Amino acid sequence: MAAGRAAAGGLRLRLSSRLALVTGGGSGIGRAVCQRFADEGATVAVVDIDEGSANETLKSLPCDRQQHSVFRTDVTSPQSVHSLVSSVQEKFSRPPCITVNCAGITMDDLLLKMEAEAFDRVLKVNLMGTFLVIQAVAKALIASGTKGGSIVNLGSIVGKVGNLGQANYTASKAGVMALTKTSAKELARFGIRCNAILPGFIDTPMAAKVPPKILEKVLQLVPMGRLGDPSEVASACAFLASDDSSYITGANLEVTGGLFM
Ligand code: NAP
Repeated sequence: MAAGRAAAGGLRLRLSSRLALVTGGGSGIGRAVCQRFADEGATVAVVDIDEGSANETLKSLPCDRQQHSVFRTDVTSPQSVHSLVSSVQEKFSRPPCITVNCAGITMDDLLLKMEAEAFDRVLKVNLMGTFLVIQAVAKALIASGTKGGSIVNLGSIVGKVGNLGQANYTASKAGVMALTKTSAKELARFGIRCNAILPGFIDTPMAAKVPPKILEKVLQLVPMGRLGDPSEVASACAFLASDDSSYITGANLEVTGGLFM
């Protein structure tokens, strides 16, 4: 984390005066994204279902001129997402021109044992939650006449190649990739770009749930031979959020250390 934040210190403030909304901002990749964006000058709306962890993220953010804020939200609830976007607009007098969808869960089991509820829940958080946030933010941007916007969705490399024990998760992440491309096609005429990041295995509380024996086997397949740091995913998000990627939309950017290239 420290390396990534130090690197940001050497960059120009690409996100200065931008308002960014980050779901799943209370943990792992989402927290690192909030930190990187704030380091690059953005004002950050830290969104999470767990208000306590979102407040921990908030405390870690630099606030020179920015007034970051926390919004407790369940991305699976249309009402909760609607009131999130209204509250953000009320608080900051504008919709977020940057959105990163990091909220996500796993409920792993082998296909033959997986309960329908576990399949449904993972699809709801990872895929429907991403859809609800994209739709609400895009509507707000269009209604406000904001010129330009960037939406970044967290997919996963396993959404491309499948993974044992993750029928629900891999299906949800394949869905995120397709949703990203459709959103990119439909929203381009409003100046809104939409891209996905496909991380490999990143050192977060989510990856900590993977049994050590399996993680060891995965690491043998990673050409760079290590887990990714959340700050390394945050750097890719900052690139896609910034004008440095102004002609990129509908892309899947792999941040995997070379896994399954
Ligand atoms: P994480 O540390 O578990 O963080 C996910 C955050 O999302 C948590 O704070 C979680 O809160 C929150 N969340 C869960 N359900 C939510 C809901 N309904 N509404 C709002 N927030 C909710 O996971 P991560 O590793 O940073 O993953 C971030 C994203 O990257 C996910 O989409 C994940 O699928 C993707 N990804 C991660 C990896 C990896 O190796 N870590 C690899 C590929 C893709 P609770 O803790 O209270 O549930």
